[in-house]
Parts: sequence; structure tokens; C-alpha cells
Amino acid sequence: MACRVTELSASRWQWQLANRVQTAAELSRYVRLTEKEKTDIEAAGVRFRWAVTPYFASLMDPEDPDCPLRRQVIPSAAELSPAQAGLGDPLAEDSHSPVHGLIHKYPDRVIIMVTMQCAMFCRHCTRRRQVGQVDRAMTAKQLAACVDYLRQHEEIRDVLVTGGDPLVGGDAWLEHILRELRAIPHVEVLRIGTRVPVTMPQRITRELCEMLERYHPLWMNIHFNHPKEITPEVAEACDRLSRAGIPLGSQTVLLRGVNDDLETLKKLYHGLALIRVRPYYLYQCDTVQGTSHFWTPVERGLELIQNLRGFTSGFCVPTFVVDSPLGKVQVAPRNFLAREGDEIVLRGYTGETCRMHNPASVEGIADGRLGAIAAQTALAEVAAGRGNH
Ligand SMILES: *Cc1c(COP(=O)(O)O)cnc(C)c1O
Repeated sequence: MACRVTELSASRWQWQLANRVQTAAELSRYVRLTEKEKTDIEAAGVRFRWAVTPYFASLMDPEDPDCPLRRQVIPSAAELSPAQAGLGDPLAEDSHSPVHGLIHKYPDRVIIMVTMQCAMFCRHCTRRRQVGQVDRAMTAKQLAACVDYLRQHEEIRDVLVTGGDPLVGGDAWLEHILRELRAIPHVEVLRIGTRVPVTMPQRITRELCEMLERYHPLWMNIHFNHPKEITPEVAEACDRLSRAGIPLGSQTVLLRGVNDDLETLKKLYHGLALIRVRPYYLYQCDTVQGTSHFWTPVERGLELIQNLRGFTSGFCVPTFVVDSPLGKVQVAPRNFLAREGDEIVLRGYTGETCRMHNPASVEGIADGRLGAIAAQTALAEVAAGRGNH
């Protein structure tokens, strides 16, 4: 009987949030912690906060300290390594923030960080200097300042609501934010960036989906890193969101020892296809302080993408990006090898090259534009020559 009650409670997201695992003793109920993990939790868990939902803890391999889910959650002494400390703000987000909580880096879109709370604190978090440090959402006054800024900037047509994690808040609170944003005439698209469907799928209730549906066009990107994160609960959460008409995308951070191999990524992307989540971005892990044990050379990501494109469904291949102070920079295989008169040289996914007829001057393209295209191609070649290879 007691067990039945527990199961019922565990199915409620509020219970998941209130009963987060935050000590080594509690975590020992889910996994057999190594001595190193215990001392690391003591040492590093103080510097950068950690917490995990009982649901996510129950997915961890109880016997394997290298379990990819354990590595994303359990603090490691490597986070304190001074050797490659990394930076607090490598993306220069602070200098692109005209109003507290809003980042305006691109011409037509912004992100708003509506809370610094998360259901679980990832060890590789890009905003770990802020996330989890203060357990609170944006104040009404701060939100009003963001809305004012958006009203004054008619060029902004896409607003990404993120944090922290906006789905950690209640329906009424989140609806208030969406309603305020929807009321701005020039804002066309709303987006939510979240990891909650993965860390606390219980949050994706029918009521939440009915509310979200009122604010279309609304898109959602979900942070997924490993195929073990795709469970029946997560599949159900994503199905509900999809049925509410929300196009779902995934964002994955390339993490050494977690998902930096072809088999794992393929399994992840094929699993996402099954639950109708389209892989959107694969991120190079940002050089944020305390994350150096997760870093990989950018060539690793490039190689992985090269081994996906053509070898699996096109919609299973995300765009590989390195985030930077200049915005996200796509790093892609260079397959347009040369222009020779009216021919171009292309490289296919197998590595073979071919020559295709492609007249440099065609009817309808003015000379000026052709010149610009030629210049762009030349620039690309120069850039590639100076690049990785
Ligand atoms: C990622 C990001 C966006 C959204 O970028 P898309 O490429 O449109 O998905 C917007 N603003 C900032 C600051 C970002 O980091």
C-alpha cells in the first residue's frame, strides 16, 4: 500500500521537484557510489550546485560509474581543475544583454532567460555561473523591462524563452509570460528551450499542453544527450507536445565520454526520429569554467557529422555548431570543391568526387550578382584553406 502511494506521488511533477536528490547519501539509494564519486560530490558539489530528479536518478546504471547519465549529473573533481579552467562567459552573453535576462545577438531574434532554476543541474551547463546559483525566476519588473525592449524593437520576430528551464515553473506563471509576448504584434514565433521533458517528463501534463496550444506558432527545442534518456515516459511527453501542434527539435551537447562516438549519436538520433523529435543542433561543448573534462576538439564533431550525412535519414542529421561571441558558427564538411568554367566539383558522402555541369552564367542572374557569388565562393575557399585541414 505504501508503495502504491509512492508511485502515485512520483507521477506528479511537483513531487519530483520537491524530492530532488541532492546528497551522496540520497543518491546511494539509486546507485552504488564509488569512493571517488563520494569525495567528488563533497568537493565539487559545493562550488557548482547539483541536483537530480528521482526519475532521472532511477535511469542511471547502478553499477557503472562511467554511465553517461551519471557523468552528466554527478559532480566531478575535474570541475575544479585550474589547468584549463575555462571562462565564465565565453559566449560574451553579458555584453549582448541590453536588459537584464535578455540576450540580443542576432538581427531578428532574442532569448529571454525567465528563470535560473532547473529540474536537474547538468555538469556541462553553459550558464552555470548563473543557473542554480539563485533559486528564483525573473521578477515581474524584469519581465516588464524585457517586454518593453521587445515592443521598442520591431525587428524582433522570434523570441526564445529559456533559462534555466521555463518548464520548472507552474502553468499560470508560464502562461503569463507567453501571453505578454504574444501580445507584441511584431513577434511572430515563440520558442521554448527546455530539458524538462527529459529530466522530469511528468511535467508535460494535458493541462500544460492545452495551455501551450493557445500561443501558436510555438516551437520547442529539447536538450537530449544520450539514447538512454529516451524512455516510455519521455516518449509519452513528446507525443503530447506534438499532438498540441508544437514542432519538436533536439539540442545535444557533444560531451567526451558521454556521446562523442558515432554509435551513440546514431542511436540517439534514430531514437529521436521514433518519438518525432527532429535533431536541430549538435553543439561543441562551450569552454565554460569547470567543464574541461567534457571538451572535444572541433574536428571530432565534424567527423561525426560527416559520418552521419548520407549514412542515415537526412532528418536525423543535426547542424553542428560552435557557439561564439559572434553567434553560432556552423562547422560543416566542405563538399563544394571547385568551380572550373561551367563545371563544379562535388564530393559525395562516400568521399568520391564528381563533376557536374553548372553554367556560371545563366539567364536571369545579373552579372553583378554572379560576381558576388563568385567572390563568396572564393572567400569560402580562403577560409577553408586557413581552417582545420
Ligand atoms: C541560439 C541562440 C538563438 C537562436 O538561434 P537559432 O540559430 O535561430 O536557433 C538566439 N539568440 C541567442 C543569443 C542564441 O544563443
